[in-house]
Amino acid sequence: MSLPCCISWSYRDSSECFSRYAFGGTLPSKVFTNTLLVALTFYGLEVALKELHPIKKGESMKLRVLGCSGSEFPGHYCSAFLLNDTLLLDAGTIGAVLTAEEQWAITNILLTHRHLDHLKALPLLADNINIQNLRQTVRVYGLRDTLAALRNHLMNNSIWPDFSRFPNPEQPIIRYEEITASTPFLVEGFEVTAFLVAHTVPAVGYILRKDGKGILYTGDTGPTELIWRMAVNLSAIIVEVSFPNALEELALRTGHLTPRLLTHELDKLSERPGRILVTHRKHQYFSTIIDELANPRIPGLELLKEGDRYEF
Ligand SMILES: [Zn+2]
Ligand SMILES: [Zn+2]
Repeated sequence: MSLPCCISWSYRDSSECFSRYAFGGTLPSKVFTNTLLVALTFYGLEVALKELHPIKKGESMKLRVLGCSGSEFPGHYCSAFLLNDTLLLDAGTIGAVLTAEEQWAITNILLTHRHLDHLKALPLLADNINIQNLRQTVRVYGLRDTLAALRNHLMNNSIWPDFSRFPNPEQPIIRYEEITASTPFLVEGFEVTAFLVAHTVPAVGYILRKDGKGILYTGDTGPTELIWRMAVNLSAIIVEVSFPNALEELALRTGHLTPRLLTHELDKLSERPGRILVTHRKHQYFSTIIDELANPRIPGLELLKEGDRYEF
């Protein structure tokens, strides 16, 4: 008879060992008693150690879907994903779904590119903060191209006030933060890296990591390479599918994906995350896209809906 396995196993495994012996009933009672004593001793030690050095579990990452549509209809809103209540990925939808307090909680916004459906709620958030007289600065991260478009064509004191200089340049409501693709930076404890993707204008997807967890958001993209190579050790990816298979030529020309193209993209992953969350479908093709994503079925795939919440 070999020594009780609990001794050679780590104390973490002691309870499993105990139950195996208890239910297996193959050991003499003396050995069983010794095993039980050893297990209880180690269990007590584990409790004591936990009290001395509490095991620090990583904070969970909370994702709230404000908008996940590639077009706007009642109940279907443009791209925006709220992380941990304060960090927004794209700004296609804010005030249409968030209460005032929820809007004030947003402190940082990561933009993927300059298209209207990804940033159109930002000027109205800035105005809400202004009217409320909150003296709050929201940092808006994006490529130089994205921020220049906001400055020159949207919040340019013609279409809308330039909130990057208002109420005063020292403490503006919006502070633009230019990012460089493939260069990591920190935002609210997240390590964030933007990777260039394939769209009709300069565009990035983001990989965000915190406390050992990671998610990837493609933004708008057609078939691409780099971001998939960097997609390791992730809890989830949020990936766009805009058009049905019949419109593949249009998808390729406009830098988007279809269900069939998505399958090819996912084949580029060296490992699949547990969740593959599909966003940005054109609402007009909603049911066709659902049918095509179901056949062939991709493990872990879910079609996002406005209001969905996840914890990773
Ligand atoms: Zn776009
Ligand atoms: Zn878009």
